[in-house]
Amino acid sequence: MKNEYTVTNTIGHFINGRHVCRAESVQPVFDPATGATTKNVALASKATVEEAIAAAQAAFPAWRNTPPLKRARVMSRFKTILEDNADRLARLLAEEHGKVLSDAHGELQRGIENVEFATYVPQLLKGEHSKNVGPSIDSWSEFQPLGVVAGITPFNFPVMVPLWMWPMAVACGNTFILKPSEKTPSSTLLLASLAIEAGLPPGVLNIVNGNKEAVDTLLTDTRVKAVSFVGSTPIAEYIYTTGCAHGKRVQALGGAKNFAIVMPDADIDNAVSSLLGAAYGSCGERCMAIPLVAVIGDQTADALVEKLALEIRKMKVGPGLEAGNDMGPLVSKPHFEKVSAYVAQGVAAGARLVVDGRGAVAHARDGYFLGPCLFDHVKPGMSIYQEEIFGPVLGVVRLNSLQEAMEMIDAHEYGNGTCIFTRDGEAARYFSDNIQVGMVGVNVPLPVPVAYHSFGGWKRSLFGDLHAYGPDAVRFYTKRKTITQRWPSAGVREGVVFAFPSNR
Ligand code: NAD
Repeated sequence: MKNEYTVTNTIGHFINGRHVCRAESVQPVFDPATGATTKNVALASKATVEEAIAAAQAAFPAWRNTPPLKRARVMSRFKTILEDNADRLARLLAEEHGKVLSDAHGELQRGIENVEFATYVPQLLKGEHSKNVGPSIDSWSEFQPLGVVAGITPFNFPVMVPLWMWPMAVACGNTFILKPSEKTPSSTLLLASLAIEAGLPPGVLNIVNGNKEAVDTLLTDTRVKAVSFVGSTPIAEYIYTTGCAHGKRVQALGGAKNFAIVMPDADIDNAVSSLLGAAYGSCGERCMAIPLVAVIGDQTADALVEKLALEIRKMKVGPGLEAGNDMGPLVSKPHFEKVSAYVAQGVAAGARLVVDGRGAVAHARDGYFLGPCLFDHVKPGMSIYQEEIFGPVLGVVRLNSLQEAMEMIDAHEYGNGTCIFTRDGEAARYFSDNIQVGMVGVNVPLPVPVAYHSFGGWKRSLFGDLHAYGPDAVRFYTKRKTITQRWPSAGVREGVVFAFPSNR
């Protein structure tokens, strides 16, 4: 990744097909498993972001006119190159995010599936055609790219979430500027070099690292036509309102607090193993993680808590790069302190801490390790119930009926994902039909839609209309144009018509 612009050990930007690193402010990047600073990341100035926008704008006309099939072929090659570089990408993910290697490979695989979907773009961009909408008049709709579009992504999926966005955007003929999380920049930046290797022309994909200054430049510059955002709810709301106020199309996916429901008839062993992965996988740093489980009936709750506690104590927590670990560290020291504080708040509020992960990891040294925590008797109003913790903390809420659980889920501010564990088809159907949540699982703990469906929550988990990736991405990254055409011949000339035309 070195060239004449690389300042030693500083991750820069990728503009117009080249790595760019210049004298700008920087921020340290940490290895969460050791707490050591491993490199710095450059924080783009307004001028650097404007340079990226200019590069994307200059690349747009030729790329827009490149046949969709040729754009799709770039995506086909990119998919193969990603597969060839899987180990390298997964290692960078583990080094900067902290997730275990097997999970990093899973993230990459789900990202690659979005690249695969982008290879179908010639089919997806087919318009709608109507012959003879009037005498000798034909009409059709086509889907044109918007121009320069931007994406702003979170730390927890540095490869997958960018791949939700830019492959489909550029396959549709747009050019793109990506602003990744400053906590986990390296794997995202590597994607840009690999895309060039796949034949993506310079300027079509640009990456600027940075913070609020870079984001605000993207949100206010009139050359940027649309913004996709994934991150926390307060920032999502800010991105949505600011971007819309500046005339842009915006989709902003926010935070979550996902509930599972365990019914008395559920297969408890299956629910326990599903909940372990959903609550503690990736150290709970997933927007589709399950941090709350509503259990119907005390008998079911007693059995579930006992089995969960038993299995949690068998989990192996340690550096993501060490084989055999189930869970790595949290991403940063401030985040480790925030999650630990939530555990203390839960105890103070009266929830029963069945498994305390604080100080429980032998490897801890200076890394940001918090062992899995399990609370029982969590209640509405407690901060561990209301707020997104984004850590390895699972809370059991004891309830008496499905109806009660559904009312609680619907009353919560977030509506990203949910799932029910049951053997009762009628209850499952009623739940999935009526619950006010965007993604629902039935005996599936993490109902993340596959790449040819679209991903998005309801309520304050998503601001905007269209969901991420899949069919909604084709609509988000294109605008409809409807053309009505007649080639008059002597026989059909009508002369002047002042009345509204209608099909009589
Ligand atoms: P974050 O909101 O702190 O940051 C997301 C992005 O916004 C980053 O690129 C960051 O640099 C930028 N940003 C941060 N503060 C900003 C500000 N004041 N002004 C402008 N830009 C700013 O989120 P995070 O901590 O990186 O990621 C975790 C959050 O993302 C969680 O809330 C999680 O639920 C959410 N998330 C949601 C989804 C989803 O699909 N709904 C997916 C993944 C993560």
